[in-house]
Amino acid sequence: MIASRALTIPPFIVMDVLERAKNMERQGLDVVHLEVGEPDFDTPSCILDAAMEAMRAGKTHYTHSQGLYELREAISEHYKERYGVEVDPDRVVVTAGTSPALLLAFAALLEPGDEVVLSNPHYACYPHFIRFFSGKPVFVDVEEQDGFQLQPERILQSITSRTKAVLVNSPSNPTGNLLDAHRMEAIAQMGPTVISDEIYHGLVYSGREHSILEFTDQAIVLNGFSKLYAMTGWRLGYLILPNELVRPVQKMHQNFFISANDFGQWAAIAALRHAHQDVASMRRVYDQRRRYLIPKLRELGFGIGVEPTGAFYVLANARGFSQNSYELAFDILENARVGVAPGIDFGTNAEGYLRFSYAASLDRIQEGMERLGRYLAERFV
Ligand code: PMP
Repeated sequence: MIASRALTIPPFIVMDVLERAKNMERQGLDVVHLEVGEPDFDTPSCILDAAMEAMRAGKTHYTHSQGLYELREAISEHYKERYGVEVDPDRVVVTAGTSPALLLAFAALLEPGDEVVLSNPHYACYPHFIRFFSGKPVFVDVEEQDGFQLQPERILQSITSRTKAVLVNSPSNPTGNLLDAHRMEAIAQMGPTVISDEIYHGLVYSGREHSILEFTDQAIVLNGFSKLYAMTGWRLGYLILPNELVRPVQKMHQNFFISANDFGQWAAIAALRHAHQDVASMRRVYDQRRRYLIPKLRELGFGIGVEPTGAFYVLANARGFSQNSYELAFDILENARVGVAPGIDFGTNAEGYLRFSYAASLDRIQEGMERLGRYLAERFV
């Protein structure tokens, strides 16, 4: 009686690790959380103030299905300031998180059998979305020694008459690496629509991230407030669409979601306009943690080919310890009481890797590394 799409969608394993960790915590155990991709910071107070003011002012209704015009204008200004690109506010659709934005993008593009080219490893949920709409993910391996960057030549070889889109995500989850501008430009010129997940933009510690819109207008941009502004629980994201996709996406949004949350959208305007200082200080703290974690993981025996400079992840090669990242991650959780994400969640090419998130305080990361050090010394002498 249950639809096969609901039965066959795989779990998001990171959430399974987190939920197991939460059960352990309920039994009184202390777990260090390096598994989850969620800022440990509270949402900056200028954003909270804007939300409270908006609530008190009665901003508690449905909004325009594409989102408040004022927020779409602020998004447009943000893309102009940061990347020098023109985005008409009418091309923006504000959603309840980047996840619904992904759902709408694939719903708008895919006929059964259509192909989407993406990197392996990739954000865990991408292929699940694609298969949900009877599309076919076509994986292109990326290599540790190349900083896990997509190689345009490999993408070209994977393009067929069924290719609907190429998916890019820079800075990337799970690798924390950026895609070079010239590679992004080459991908933009290949023909298929590029879907660019820009949710980690702004969390860059060296070098510069690029928006796909610097290279083409025929792209779908996904972005959101969860990561940069520490707003995961607010559920706010957005799409920037080519003109012809706006109305179809808007109609789906009207039917399935009606609109994103009203006062949250007013708060998002404050995030874009007034949270620069808060973002800069969070970025400095992430960078300190990154600089601690990378050498520490190497010292413990993990391989890191190219140092990640974005998002808040390190994808570390653990093949010296185990070929089975799922077993290793759960063993580390149960015996060292450190949550880590198994590479296999992010694709077959990340099997034997573990993803460490540094969206936890330096104290907790240090505690986690001590526990991990003791665990590895006991198991792998
Ligand atoms: N894209 C990527 C690459 C992510 O890492 C995440 C969150 N883990 C999302 C999209 C979804 O984020 P949200 O729905 O909170 O905006």
